[in-house]
Amino acid sequence: MSDVRPIAPGAVRWIARTLEEAGYETWAVGGAVRDALLGRPSADWDLATRATPKQVQRTFRRTVPIGVEHGTVGVLARDGLMYEVTTFRKDVETDGRHAVVEFADRIEDDLSRRDFTINAIAWHPLRDELFDPFGGADDMSAAMLRTVGVAADRFREDYLRILRALRFAGRFDFEIDEGTWTALISLTDHLSTLSPERVREELMKVLSADPRPSHALSLYRDGGINRVLFPEVDSLAGGLWEHAVRVVDALPPGRPMLRLAALLRPAAPAAVAALLVRLRLSNADTDVVAHLAAAPGLPARGSGAGDLRRWLSRYGPTVMRGVARLELASARVADVEPAPLEVVEAWRGIRAELRTAPPLAIGDLTVGGRDLMRMGLKPGPVFKDVLSELLVWVLEDPARNEREELLLRAQEVAERLRGGNSSGPSDGAFGPKKSGP
Ligand code: ATP
Ligand code: MG
Repeated sequence: MSDVRPIAPGAVRWIARTLEEAGYETWAVGGAVRDALLGRPSADWDLATRATPKQVQRTFRRTVPIGVEHGTVGVLARDGLMYEVTTFRKDVETDGRHAVVEFADRIEDDLSRRDFTINAIAWHPLRDELFDPFGGADDMSAAMLRTVGVAADRFREDYLRILRALRFAGRFDFEIDEGTWTALISLTDHLSTLSPERVREELMKVLSADPRPSHALSLYRDGGINRVLFPEVDSLAGGLWEHAVRVVDALPPGRPMLRLAALLRPAAPAAVAALLVRLRLSNADTDVVAHLAAAPGLPARGSGAGDLRRWLSRYGPTVMRGVARLELASARVADVEPAPLEVVEAWRGIRAELRTAPPLAIGDLTVGGRDLMRMGLKPGPVFKDVLSELLVWVLEDPARNEREELLLRAQEVAERLRGGNSSGPSDGAFGPKKSGP
């Protein structure tokens, strides 16, 4: 490991040189140094400097005050990118939810507040010198994740580090050092004090792992994280969880919401809803994930066109692609019905049906609320009842979506409803009501 040297973008060397020439010691730190030493592409190069934010702002012409109170100034480089330059910091106080930091004079202090040894290596871009006071490079060679300092103390300072440990171990396929692991599993109950936003962000990072989230997800289960944070999936029978995790792996890293849906699919819809609300996902994401997780498989091969349209009316077209991908991934990873080829064929059938542009929603009907008003119906929930019933009828045969015929039919339905039968059209006799988006 020690013979691998990071290669920094020119801009990183330029920033370091400019600061050093102004008299401020400056190092590259954090994820980029770690990734470079692991021979992986590093995205965000972060710099740590002795200069205060004000001094950094005075040294460069183009800066952005990203988080000056935390010591971070963005420096715009000639490559058009922005690099974060952060004043050396040390932890002064912690509450388990956030570390409170203060500026420091020495890179040692800055490194000692970082979470894991592999994240606590500094590299000097001008001298090509590594500063690794906690043995991060050795741990890398041993594929070992270890906290900087006493594990239990470090986790108590910020419980998010528990989740970060599992994420990094999963991402790099590292083992977790025994002391670190023991401390970690003894403190999982405190995870419930973390803000939902931080938990969500961590989970999303796990689910974006390229190529496989499964290692971290297995650690979530084994470490008791699911028990505390995601009881809805912790209670799943073993086989179901394992299958879900394999499906997650088989889905693309760029689709974390799809992966989340795969993970939650074996859970009951009410449990899924509770979990999504707790994670404070956006409304749009909540909607998509909940629908994907609850959607049944694609209609079986050989389903009639009416079945295909009813399925589409309920699940497509917003989520149908997602469902197809979930089904295909699920079929690929296990010997379960249906086989991949059958999924592909079912998908073909659906697409062919969709190409005929059939009416699938109330809005596609040739009659609408205005027509119902003209018939003397009062706007209200009854409108939806009438139109839903018409849609059920039209889904059976798109040719029925013909205005004159549909108006007559609407009249009949309306009269029947007016006839004062309050249990009305949501009775099973009229088939499922549309509830999807
Ligand atoms: P990623 O590739 O996921 O961004 P990273 O190592 O860059 O990994 P960041 O969250 O971007 O992780 O943080 C950058 C660095 O800041 C880390 O490498 C680590 O040194 C330090 N750090 C971040 N969060 C914490 C934390 N909660 N406790 C201690 N140190 C942290
Ligand atoms: Mg980072």
